[in-house]
Amino acid sequence: MTCPACQGAGAVATPGGGAAQCPVCSGTGDYSGPGRFKVYELTVPQMAGNAAAPTQALNITDAPFKWMLAMATSTGVFTAQIKDGATQRPFFNQQVHRDTFWGNASNGPFPILVPYVFPQMGSILVDCTDISGAANNVRLAFIGVELDGLANASRGR
Ligand SMILES: [Zn+2]
Repeated sequence: MTCPACQGAGAVATPGGGAAQCPVCSGTGDYSGPGRFKVYELTVPQMAGNAAAPTQALNITDAPFKWMLAMATSTGVFTAQIKDGATQRPFFNQQVHRDTFWGNASNGPFPILVPYVFPQMGSILVDCTDISGAANNVRLAFIGVELDGLANASRGR
């Protein structure tokens, strides 16, 4: 089937405006593995200028979730750290700047170079800090596929 990450193009856009080989299909545009397209979006509680939001837990519900692309929209710049709630494994050595990972939703999603699977009933933990100095509304999109797709399809999900 057509690769769900690059729509068959074999390449995905990077936050800097360039293109990278699609990490899901290795640039072939074809993807025969299991999975059903899914986006988990987190709305971070509004942060005051230079304030940190409480740790947010985004719960993985219906099936294991393979995270493949990252995207964000916000009213100001921020930094964020992501952890796997099951293992507390951090994805970054420190909270990363919006523009070096998430982008600002105008240049396409950032590819997770090695897609990462969060377990069913697990969680994605997010620590987010405003660095704009003003009130900031942030939404983070975790784009990927649900695994065990056939079992969920039979339940109409
Ligand atoms: Zn692809």
